[in-house]
Amino acid sequence: RDFEVEGGEETNINVVVRCRGRSDREVRENSGVVVSTEGTKGKNVELSMGPSALSNKTYHFDKVFSPAADQGMIFDEVVAPILDEVLAGFNCTIFAYGQTGTGKTYTMSGDISSVLPLPDAAGIIPRVLHSLFEKLGDEESENSVKCSFIELYNEELRDLLSQDDNVKLKIFDDSSKKGGSSTLVQGMEESHIKSASKGIQLLREGSHKRQVAATKCNDLSSRSHTVFTITVYLKRTSDTGEDFVSAGKLNLVDLAGSENIQRSGAENKRAAEAGLINKSLLTLGRVINALVDKSSHIPYRESKLTRLLQDSLGGRTKTCIIATLSPAKSNLEETISTLDYAFRAK
Ligand code: ADP
Ligand code: MG
Repeated sequence: RDFEVEGGEETNINVVVRCRGRSDREVRENSGVVVSTEGTKGKNVELSMGPSALSNKTYHFDKVFSPAADQGMIFDEVVAPILDEVLAGFNCTIFAYGQTGTGKTYTMSGDISSVLPLPDAAGIIPRVLHSLFEKLGDEESENSVKCSFIELYNEELRDLLSQDDNVKLKIFDDSSKKGGSSTLVQGMEESHIKSASKGIQLLREGSHKRQVAATKCNDLSSRSHTVFTITVYLKRTSDTGEDFVSAGKLNLVDLAGSENIQRSGAENKRAAEAGLINKSLLTLGRVINALVDKSSHIPYRESKLTRLLQDSLGGRTKTCIIATLSPAKSNLEETISTLDYAFRAK
């Protein structure tokens, strides 16, 4: 399913799947391959659930990328069309969703060691920055680009671009905007960048900071979300010759491991109280389902992540979820949960 469905009705949520190859460990442990995809990029994922082909289960998505699909292919097929929407002045969001160890960070950031040349393993964020400044070209001085990078852990926001580690960010409703659908993050660092390399440098510094914190706190890296936001202000001239600025925003979200909502069922109250369930991850699923069902109430306010992304989910925005998978039998149960969550968003 692309953004345009039959009948011309626009759909704003795109769901794709990316399956990595078996890791060295999965090979060493002789864990068989239970996920199959047709070709490098088809639309179906098939799971071997038992000894007979009769027990196989097939899921259909907008796109399915096999282990042979590289970073450039993900960018060209999934990200480039969304970047065009951002340049047209819309707010868009790309999520990486999946079990820890399946390639969310590889897909979102990948190799960020250099900018020029762009490494083969560079992920979505460095490629977006690269392509963005290429497109802006000489107009760069007329236009401007801002970045922010935050982490959300236990429903608390931390600024990965701030020099001060102890600043706790707060979310407020932005009443200056019509309809009250926007929020502000008080105290958040927003850096103007003039080049892709400056943006990638910020990503590198923020990621390093997160890594340092993660070594002190065991479950931080699997239980926290990161949001890298690029806002583009373009100077335009209207038909009547007046100058105006159009702003588009792209949120690139590396979500907490999906195993954080799937143990013991999402509705289990005791698990929720024990902090075993990630409130933002759970609420994101509900918000997306409500948007897909065109429900009159969208529960944005029920988690920090959905409040933060409120002006970029629903309405005239485009959203893409990239569900990442391991192909190994040892992860089958989590793989089923990931595919079920992703499929419900369709
Ligand atoms: P996650 O962020 O979901 O926990 P990572 O992105 O850290 O997972 O990926 C786990 C490991 O697998 C990393 O070493 C990463 O480089 C590797 N990996 C993930 N996806 C791919 C892929 N498509 N191709 C090659 N290596 C991958
Ligand atoms: Mg990760």
